[in-house]
Amino acid sequence: MNPIFADAPTTIFETMSRLAGQHDAINLGQGFPDDPGPEDVRAKAAQAVLSGWNQYPPMMGLPELRQAVAEHYRRFHRLDLDWQSEVMITSGATEALADSLLALIEPGDEVVLFQPMYDAYLPLVKRAGGVPKFVTLRPPHWRIDEAALQAAFSPKTRAVIFNNPLNPTASVFPREDLDLLGRYLVKHNAIAICDEVWEHVLFDGLQHQPLIALPGLRERCIKIGSAGKIFSLTGWKVGFVCAAPAIMKVLAKAHQYVTFTTPPNLQAAVAYGLEKSDDYFLGMRQDLQTARDRFAKGLTEAGLTVLPSRATYFLNVDLSTIANDIDDAAFCLRMVEQAKVAAIPVSAFYSEDQVRSVVRFCFAKTTDKLDGAVERIAKFVKRG
Ligand code: PMP
Ligand code: GLN
Repeated sequence: MNPIFADAPTTIFETMSRLAGQHDAINLGQGFPDDPGPEDVRAKAAQAVLSGWNQYPPMMGLPELRQAVAEHYRRFHRLDLDWQSEVMITSGATEALADSLLALIEPGDEVVLFQPMYDAYLPLVKRAGGVPKFVTLRPPHWRIDEAALQAAFSPKTRAVIFNNPLNPTASVFPREDLDLLGRYLVKHNAIAICDEVWEHVLFDGLQHQPLIALPGLRERCIKIGSAGKIFSLTGWKVGFVCAAPAIMKVLAKAHQYVTFTTPPNLQAAVAYGLEKSDDYFLGMRQDLQTARDRFAKGLTEAGLTVLPSRATYFLNVDLSTIANDIDDAAFCLRMVEQAKVAAIPVSAFYSEDQVRSVVRFCFAKTTDKLDGAVERIAKFVKRG
């Protein structure tokens, strides 16, 4: 068996969800919302299953969805995309990531990864034959350090995976960091695989800045989005990929042999959803921001140091203020057993040079659950 998968651990999301079940804990680990998603979008999917086309849709995706994606990004990010040559639908952002790596990488090519990183990146890079080069980000700001970037790039750099807003840190890279990365991409003739699945989940009035829209980067970015995050429907696995025609041609070849296509009924419902008015998207942000603020206040009152959460469903606490030699994984294990609250240790998102003091909580949950969790965590922290 291939050792990359044979030796891989079960993902931290599965592990913590299983422990949450075993200990009857409130699960604030794996990132999925309690909100069932917009009813009209779900109704569209149900109708499409009953009365629509249930056979293979076109390989590139339903034309109505590809047009809706281009239109949506024109409305929200002023991007000018040709839906026929620059937009493709995939089975989730995860498939889009796999397609991008399979299409770009030749064995031995180097791929720059920013850690903490989403768990799928590293095994996919390695299985595509890529050699990972890490840039480490650290709390509380998680900014890109130019010396680390310089050390990671080399004449062999082919691609970078860039997640912004960033899961698990809940941070948004400032424009200065995007410009810095852009200069390195141009200098090294590299392509950025931009995982922007959290592009709609930003708080405090922040606006998402797609990397592909920056000067000089239009031809060297693959922009990836996901309906799962936009509509709180994480199980749907409908992803979007946007890239210049020359890149898209090759991505489409990878996609045609990986999944070939994505369920047409879900595609039709997502096409409908992307056309919803601005109120829906802004309302979703506001509701999540309210939950974030309530939860952050509770954790702060419980004596924890809450790091800024600017985006995503997540909020992190830095344990280094309660003890010097704390280990986030051990803390999460004790917390799920004793306090009956599950969270995710952020060290799981590093490959080397780990930050071990940060714990991630998902706050896209009902008020009752968040309040219940705060009460349990407060007692747990007090006990020490
Ligand atoms: N990338 C990041 C950064 C994510 O947080 C997630 C989901 N949590 C994904 C990719 C996967 O998206 P999808 O479910 O659309 O495959
Ligand atoms: N993306 C989700 C998270 O960050 C989990 C996805 C998964 O379970 N693979 O929590």
